[in-house]
Amino acid sequence: MVTKVASDVYRVGDGMVSFYVLVEGADLTLVDAGLPAHYGLLTATLEGIGRSVQDVRAVILTHAHLDHVGLAERLRQETGATVWVHARDKAALSTPLKPPVDAKPESGLGRYLLRHPTALRVPLHLARSGAFRTPAVTSASPFDDGMTLDVPGRPRVVAVPGHTPGSVAFHVPAQGAVFTGDALVTHDGLVGLTGTEPQIIGPVFTHDTAQARTSLEALTSLDAGLLLPGHGDPFHGDVTDAVAQARHTPS
Ligand SMILES: [Zn+2]
Repeated sequence: MVTKVASDVYRVGDGMVSFYVLVEGADLTLVDAGLPAHYGLLTATLEGIGRSVQDVRAVILTHAHLDHVGLAERLRQETGATVWVHARDKAALSTPLKPPVDAKPESGLGRYLLRHPTALRVPLHLARSGAFRTPAVTSASPFDDGMTLDVPGRPRVVAVPGHTPGSVAFHVPAQGAVFTGDALVTHDGLVGLTGTEPQIIGPVFTHDTAQARTSLEALTSLDAGLLLPGHGDPFHGDVTDAVAQARHTPS
């Protein structure tokens, strides 16, 4: 199934996790890399638009959490694509199952699940999708804030630290779109909020919630009418409105 979300952008995912294909001519950039079990979803989407994984030139990561990294190493090895990540998240790519001490979430998942047992569906879903066998990425190119990456689609890096120390959004002016990763989402599986409400992700998966709120300011000046999050549906509308709503996510 092919889900087109902008003139040259396609969404791939399973309802809980989303990643994106950015097309420029014959070449593709993958924005985030889903979970290991998403390989079939990706190849089906690429087939649907007349492409294949061999056309993937780059995998750019909004951050190094395992539900965004799943296919990165496989694609790097199979296609020679370059994997890109913010310098502050690069170390985490070598240990996707165990974030470095200085990137750990604020709260423990175990305690949260005791209070909210229905949230167990998130780790179960991740497990079924192979998250816990996500391979380490053995080679990645680091980027910094403000860089325009020389990859298909020419995304520009906008640092939005907080969810992880190296969390970024990618602004693609030609598509009027911002890929927000987990800095701003419209669905938080743990909390159970579905739909299109802009929000930040809770402290169980976020390193520094206060910083995550403050960082959203960096998105407000961007010329875009479409936000493409790592979880949840695309948000169509004014970025400043989305940021204002996300800032008020209850903690
Ligand atoms: Zn994340």
